[in-house]
Amino acid sequence: MKLYKIKKSNIDRNGRGLYATKNIKAGTKIIQYIGNIITKKQTEDSDKFDNSKPIYLFNLNKRYDLDGDVSWNTARLINHSCSNNAEYEGTGLKIWVVSNKEIKKGEEITCDYGFGYDSDFRQFPCECKSINCCGYIVRTESRWRINKKFKKNLRINR
Ligand SMILES: [Zn+2]
Repeated sequence: MKLYKIKKSNIDRNGRGLYATKNIKAGTKIIQYIGNIITKKQTEDSDKFDNSKPIYLFNLNKRYDLDGDVSWNTARLINHSCSNNAEYEGTGLKIWVVSNKEIKKGEEITCDYGFGYDSDFRQFPCECKSINCCGYIVRTESRWRINKKFKKNLRINR
C-alpha cells in the first residue's frame, strides 16, 4: 500500500496535494522524486528555467540536474509549507521525499521548496497557514528577512 494518495490540497486552493494514507514515522522514504536527468549545460541553454523559480529543478551533482516537471512525477504535487513535515533528500542520482517528523494519517505531506529571498519573493505567496508561515514561499533560513520574528526562531533552531 502506498503511503500517500492524491487529493485536493488545503494549501494550494487550485491544486492537488499528497496526503498520508497511514501514520508515517520520521525518517521514512515516502515517494521518489523522479524526472529527467539533464546536464547543467542543458539547464543553462533551456529557456524553460529562465524566469520562474525552479520549483521542479533539483541539483543532483556538479554535472547533472533533475527536471521533475513531468506528468509521471507524482511527487511534484507536494506543496510547500513553512512547517514542512518532509524533505527532499538526495542519494546519488536519486531524490527521495523523506518525512522529517511523524506524519499522521490524513495529513498533507509538505516540503520546504527552499526558495531564496530575492526581489521577486512577493510572486510566491504561501497559504500554508502554519504557525511558522511568513506569508511567502521562502526557505527557513531567509524568512527573518520578511518578518523579523523569525530571526529569534532561527537562533534557537541552530
Ligand atoms: Zn507558509
